[in-house]
Amino acid sequence: MRDQYLQAMGITRWVRRSHDLAPIASQVTEPVPEQALAVKETIELSPVQTPDSHNVDALDWPALERVVSNCNACDLHSTRSQTVFGSGDLNADWLIIGEAPGADEDREGQPFVGRAGQLLTAMIGAMGMKREQIFITNILKCRPPQNRDPDVEEVMACQPYLRRQIELLQPKIILAVGRIAAQNLLNTHETMKAMRGNPYTYADTGIPVVVTYHPAYLLRSPLEKRKAWQDLQMAMRIYDGEALQ
Ligand code: SF4
Repeated sequence: MRDQYLQAMGITRWVRRSHDLAPIASQVTEPVPEQALAVKETIELSPVQTPDSHNVDALDWPALERVVSNCNACDLHSTRSQTVFGSGDLNADWLIIGEAPGADEDREGQPFVGRAGQLLTAMIGAMGMKREQIFITNILKCRPPQNRDPDVEEVMACQPYLRRQIELLQPKIILAVGRIAAQNLLNTHETMKAMRGNPYTYADTGIPVVVTYHPAYLLRSPLEKRKAWQDLQMAMRIYDGEALQ
């Protein structure tokens, strides 16, 4: 089954004739060095700066979803079709966080639909899971016009919602997909190259964060899929308890 999802990711399986049936994972990636699994650093997020943050911190899940659906805390409320709160299993061990809704997501009200969503589903499948077992959301709950990068004010305004989602979900691991998601989640200006391969933790929670490429980027740059698979392997190893002990 993993083989099928790797194929769906666009990763070619190279098999040496009939006698070499080593696991696909060992054939498509280089091993992640053990020392790379040591926690690089814990980054404290900035204090929440929206005026209603103390209210957000007290909301339960249904109330939080309701507040987000009516939110006008930043200018994006005036151009969205609807908010995209997130979807998946509320008891999930895995939380995937992207950047912001795009046109398809804005229209459907769900995160990661369309071709990028299909690739994300394949990436999840390659890790041996189904999309429904994971919770998926974004840094921003509303689509930026023309899919431009979020600005600082928008991220700060929306940050309490994501923080509260994480508090309520209590995931065992977070996968940050894309530079924008990773930089804002980890409050850093590091490049993707610098962030990839380094496990972080989210704020003061101890929840491990692994950074990988956004599936939309992988669609444009398919040669990077092998690196993404390395990232997913590292995340699986951390989840399986091979680090952060
Ligand atoms: Fe509110 Fe976030 Fe949407 Fe801005 S992006 S209007 S803060 S839900």
